[in-house]
Amino acid sequence: CRRGSSAADRIAIRADQNSYTYTQLVSSAFNISRLLSSSNNDGVSSGHGNLGGARIGIVAKPSAEFVAGMLGTWFSGGVAVPLALSYPEAELLHVMNDSDISFVLSTEEYRETMQSVAARSAAQFSLIPPVPSISSSPNFTDQIQIGEIEAEGSLIGENPALVVYTSGTTGKPKGVVHTHKSITAQVQMLTEAWEYTSSSTVEFMPKFSVRGIWQRWRESYTINGSKADDSITVFTGVPTMYTRLIQGYHAMDPEQQAVSASAARQLRLMMCGSSALPQPVMQEWETITGHLLLERYGMTEFVMAISNPLRGARKAGTVGKPFPGVQVRIAEDKSGGDMMGVGELCVKSPSLFKEYWKLPQVTKESFTDDGFFKTGDAGRVDEDGYYIILGRTSADIMKVGGYKLSALEIESVLLEHPDIAECCVLGLPDKDYGEAVSAIVVLESERKGKQEDSNSALSLEELCTWAKDKLAPYKLPTRLMLWDSLPRNAMGKVNKKELKRQLGGEK
Ligand code: ATP
Ligand code: MG
Repeated sequence: CRRGSSAADRIAIRADQNSYTYTQLVSSAFNISRLLSSSNNDGVSSGHGNLGGARIGIVAKPSAEFVAGMLGTWFSGGVAVPLALSYPEAELLHVMNDSDISFVLSTEEYRETMQSVAARSAAQFSLIPPVPSISSSPNFTDQIQIGEIEAEGSLIGENPALVVYTSGTTGKPKGVVHTHKSITAQVQMLTEAWEYTSSSTVEFMPKFSVRGIWQRWRESYTINGSKADDSITVFTGVPTMYTRLIQGYHAMDPEQQAVSASAARQLRLMMCGSSALPQPVMQEWETITGHLLLERYGMTEFVMAISNPLRGARKAGTVGKPFPGVQVRIAEDKSGGDMMGVGELCVKSPSLFKEYWKLPQVTKESFTDDGFFKTGDAGRVDEDGYYIILGRTSADIMKVGGYKLSALEIESVLLEHPDIAECCVLGLPDKDYGEAVSAIVVLESERKGKQEDSNSALSLEELCTWAKDKLAPYKLPTRLMLWDSLPRNAMGKVNKKELKRQLGGEK
């Protein structure tokens, strides 16, 4: 967006149909920083940077206020702990106590809940005031003294900046401690890889909405090729979002489909990550929008480390190559067979986290002696040096009659079946084979809400007859369960360990 000529005047954030300049954002962050610093000193402010690593909980939707809360925390020398809005109150309290939060910041909409949660955990509470936007304060000015913060040195180096909790797919969420240095390294890597520029604006949607996203793209580009000033250029999502966007597209009438597809086609880049992108989804997305989704691999612990390229060849079914400066090593599984060349991915990167919050033993066990982080994910490298993720060693690698199999590989094939909307493959105990390839399937008819008897809609036999040309015999499912939906967490991931436990498969 081109508003003013100076950097301070540029639009940093758009959210809820408002735009916020860098000046407006940083000015709000300064106010928050002053407030935090003064409360720490019984009302006597000694300036920024005096919080000495105190944890500050932040509760806000993705918004300018959320970013101002993060920056304000950092300016005051605090460590930001974003709290998930989806947590029930008891879990919020657990995370707050776990991370010893001394101060909670929230927007007005969460004031009541957070005030009461804060009171119960002996934390102070403060409201994040609305950040002035371009429409609410068009003539806003502030003489920001950036030097004031830089002098404090609180944004530098190994100081912890963030405790961010993992998705909790394999157990209780763990607090991952990132430093200013690891965050800066990650930002630099991604800026170079995706070619972000200083005039890129970040736009937040308060929550995922299929209609909202398609509409936003249609507003950005018309079918005759003209483009709005605030057009969307890059979009990133998790695989389930693309599945839902495809469904939304099919629900449109042909005219709207044409306008929507043409708009989506004009974005500069569309990316996907967080869990395996099923190839049928990738193919359908390409058919609709012309975009070959750029898939990448990341974890809370290092944010992102391996990626398909922006400009070079993107290979379906792979997550590409390590970013410059990132080393990836495969601790090879020695069992041979299908697992030749397969092993746990180990990552060394300047973006690597410092430690798991208050879990020194887990931290220790997660690193090799020479400083590689053990990801817990299995993978291999193909003939072109592209990495293939085969899933979590703990839940996606099944042991079936002497073979080790990747559940992700089987899921990807099953999803090509025209009647299957979603599926989850896992190994359940089997007295003959150790584990049995078990598929939980959600049928298309189920998702479209048709009143069909889904129990008789697909049998194991039919599925195996269909799949026998696509999968080796020992990879064919031997159990099939038809469900209404799959239990997914906030990141759209299925907790297989928990499912295995429920289905009697976990010791
Ligand atoms: P927890 O650590 O609490 O169990 P989590 O591992 O799901 O939760 P995240 O850090 O959000 O929490 O997710 C990282 C994991 O997501 C990776 O370890 C990997 O298993 C999976 N993942 C990320 N990107 C991809 C991808 N492109 N393909 C397959 N899996 C992916
Ligand atoms: Mg994890």
